[in-house]
Amino acid sequence: MSIVSNSLKRIKPSPTIAVTTKAREMRAAGKDVIGLGAGEPDFDTPDNIKEAAIKAIKKGDTKYTAVDGTPDLKKAIQAKFLRENNLSYELDQITVGTGGKQVLYNAFMATVNKGDEVIIPAPYWVSYPDMILLAGGKPKIVKCDEKDSFKITANKLKKAISKKTKWLILNSPSNPTGSAYTKEEIIELSKILIKNKKIYILSDDIYEHIIYNNFNFFTTAQIKALKDRTLTMNGVSKSYSMTGWRIGYAAGPKEIIKAISKVQSQSTSNPSSISQAAAVEALNGTQDFIKTRTDSFKQRRDFVVDSLNSIKGLSCLRPEGAFYVFPSCKKLLGKKTKLKTDKDFVEKLLERSEVAVVQGSAFGLDGYFRVSYATSMENLKKAMNRIKSFCENLN
Ligand code: PLP
Repeated sequence: MSIVSNSLKRIKPSPTIAVTTKAREMRAAGKDVIGLGAGEPDFDTPDNIKEAAIKAIKKGDTKYTAVDGTPDLKKAIQAKFLRENNLSYELDQITVGTGGKQVLYNAFMATVNKGDEVIIPAPYWVSYPDMILLAGGKPKIVKCDEKDSFKITANKLKKAISKKTKWLILNSPSNPTGSAYTKEEIIELSKILIKNKKIYILSDDIYEHIIYNNFNFFTTAQIKALKDRTLTMNGVSKSYSMTGWRIGYAAGPKEIIKAISKVQSQSTSNPSSISQAAAVEALNGTQDFIKTRTDSFKQRRDFVVDSLNSIKGLSCLRPEGAFYVFPSCKKLLGKKTKLKTDKDFVEKLLERSEVAVVQGSAFGLDGYFRVSYATSMENLKKAMNRIKSFCENLN
């Protein structure tokens, strides 16, 4: 009999991390792999943020902090919500964790009972369903259509709700599609949610700042009637190129925030004191570089979308944000190409052309693949040429 627990048997390792690992191994074996699988900006952490961390080390900020974050960081988060989202929170409505991922994990561990349902629009970020399964809940996957830019509609939401629904997860801009919900779309969804008073909303806003063409970012907690039922998760990983520092946070109802901190107090305790000092500078310091970096991401998005759409058999929407696109490869699947699934497509692409992307089925929607364009233009140009010749040689 295996030592592994039954709850762990319900889940699988992260498929995005698996692709990155495979690409790394191939590179170590001397192959010229271009990785378009990773979910992190290629930019470095800005110098003012690094300096704040160095200062913290020298000052001796190297001890345990409050489990749910230092008062300085909580104040910086409080100010961020007010400044950028016009949302006001008390300090005890804010918690800080070791990355947004830990905050989400704690939130589900703290609130999901056996059999509780969590509505997850697909395509989704790979970790949501497995976190729910680990917590003993039931992911209720709602497949969203490309014609709706892969977003959940009010109608689909209504149909997915049952007596057991505990949470709805919304992620905008989205990983893996880059699509973002407009204010009007969130208002439409909120009409259903206001009527269903027992449902909580988890808004994953981690890509808030990576958004193009002056898209008006809007988040569910800005709907007054839903603020008391919304947990807004965010973090410094993507906006400030701080993936390795591991700082994420959430704001919402006191009861949930307290419960999240309780889980944390019996698992990891506080996130790194040094990373917290760096995050204070990220949130309070200059925000100028965000625009320059976003402009660069936009240029890459346009190049990638145009390139993919020029390849016979592929088609790709032009999303509003994040650093991903989610092209369809459905036309290249079938007898003619001998590729049955998107996974076959992705595996052959890696084997034959040494480009690493992730299959759509890993995100809950078959027939697509995710491209992360958080890499240099030079890499992207090479990768697009390789994808083009790979696709042309399939028939
Ligand atoms: N949410 C989404 C949609 C993500 O893509 C990620 C990271 O890939 C996270 C949350 C977690 O980010 P972190 O733990 O680095 O804060």
